Amino acid sequence: MVLGKQGSGKGTQCVKLSRRLAIPHISTGDMLRAEVRARTELGIKAREFMDRGELISDSIIIKMVEKRIELDDARTRGFILDGFPRTLSQAKSLDEMLLPQAIDMVIDIEVPTAVALKRIASRRICVDCQAVYSTSKPPKVNWTCNLCGGEVVQRDDDTQEAILKRLALYEKETAPLISYYQEQGKLYRINGVGSEEVVANRIDKAIQEYFKKHEKK
Ligand code: AMP
Repeated sequence: MVLGKQGSGKGTQCVKLSRRLAIPHISTGDMLRAEVRARTELGIKAREFMDRGELISDSIIIKMVEKRIELDDARTRGFILDGFPRTLSQAKSLDEMLLPQAIDMVIDIEVPTAVALKRIASRRICVDCQAVYSTSKPPKVNWTCNLCGGEVVQRDDDTQEAILKRLALYEKETAPLISYYQEQGKLYRINGVGSEEVVANRIDKAIQEYFKKHEKK
């Protein structure tokens, strides 16, 4: 599981980690944006909350995650959770879905709010595959995704007002998860300031530390 406030680089690191470990990346934000794009009933309902920077109700999110982790890839390879759980009640439901010991590591990517705000302001994403870019690292050709050719734009919820609301909600609803997992001895704190590669190396080190401790190969 990867925790971190908006702009911590959590999504980017989860994509890299998923490729390195060949483990599915389950991002509730990406799943919801796919529902919004497909104009499903859930997507239409979720969009209003997302654009305002508010959380979707626990029951909807929990059902969505429960369905996803039952798919073959997650059952056989395990998974990296990104953006879930976001509340204590979601964390407790996850413990019920899995056995509590099924979560191996909780990686918390820490960045000061000022750094997060700067990153969010420059963040751009592909509307089709959700690949993340920034104004300082744009796609090669005219805001067209390098990976799938989709249009690369600013997220609808990356407005100043929604960002501030999301950051405040993170402190109120999600930050308590840090002590929840620390008490279970599962928390690994990672300094999220630095280049993508530097942060990725720090995460790799923590994973090696975990394996050493648990003597898994
Ligand atoms: P993210 O891409 O993780 O920043 O998520 C974008 C938006 O999707 C959030 O601001 C929420 O509106 C919604 N969302 C994503 N994950 C959750 C979750 N676990 N619980 C509630 N709402 C969520």
